[in-house]
Amino acid sequence: MTELTTIEINRLERLEEIVSKGMRSFVEVGLALAEIQSNRLYRAQYETFEEYCQERWQFSASRGRQLVGAVGALASLPAELPKPANAAQAEALARIADESRRSEVWTIAVQRATAEGRMPTAREIGEIDIEVGDVFGDDDGNEEWNEFTDGERNMTEVKPMFRELGDLLRRASDIADALSRTSAKQWMLTGGSSLQKHIRDARDHVNAARPAGVCPLCSGARCAKCFDTGWMNGTRLHHYRPSR
Ligand SMILES: [Zn+2]
Repeated sequence: MTELTTIEINRLERLEEIVSKGMRSFVEVGLALAEIQSNRLYRAQYETFEEYCQERWQFSASRGRQLVGAVGALASLPAELPKPANAAQAEALARIADESRRSEVWTIAVQRATAEGRMPTAREIGEIDIEVGDVFGDDDGNEEWNEFTDGERNMTEVKPMFRELGDLLRRASDIADALSRTSAKQWMLTGGSSLQKHIRDARDHVNAARPAGVCPLCSGARCAKCFDTGWMNGTRLHHYRPSR
């Protein structure tokens, strides 16, 4: 094991302080670990980054690398969008290897979630990744149309319509909100239920119905479980697909 310079010793102390106070923010932790790893600042006491993670912090090296990778993935996101707020979101993004696809998934995820006044969840990021991958033919952009399964073709047909319907309902929701701030306010509550509630229910319905991926049981060839479509919505797909 090789000695550290005084500068490195001081730097290591600083970085370790960040990790141990920890969890202040996953971004700080990831950046600190990345620097410790790439400059091998652990080398005076530990042979490897693996050993360092396990013995110094009691987490596995793969956990350490996950944090480093998650922070690295943030760098490639479109600057105008908000950054992921926690490690789970960032790690879900880091699992998408391709940078432009990662940006696209994050863009869609943020658009949908901010329409509901919140940030995307890690699970939504995973689902949108599947959705995006299905439309663009995953890994191989040169596939012929007839090489797609029925499920993929069917999804490609309905996805733009679902997206348009979602946009329309979002617009409907905005107008209904505006109306409820006018003289129409009381008339919006006909029958004890508000129009906004109906529109919200319709949006939930659309979100639940839209395709989340190719049917894992028939691989898109169409079967009874996917109602002869070759694709499944999020709930059903989640039920039948073994967790990744
Ligand atoms: Zn099927």
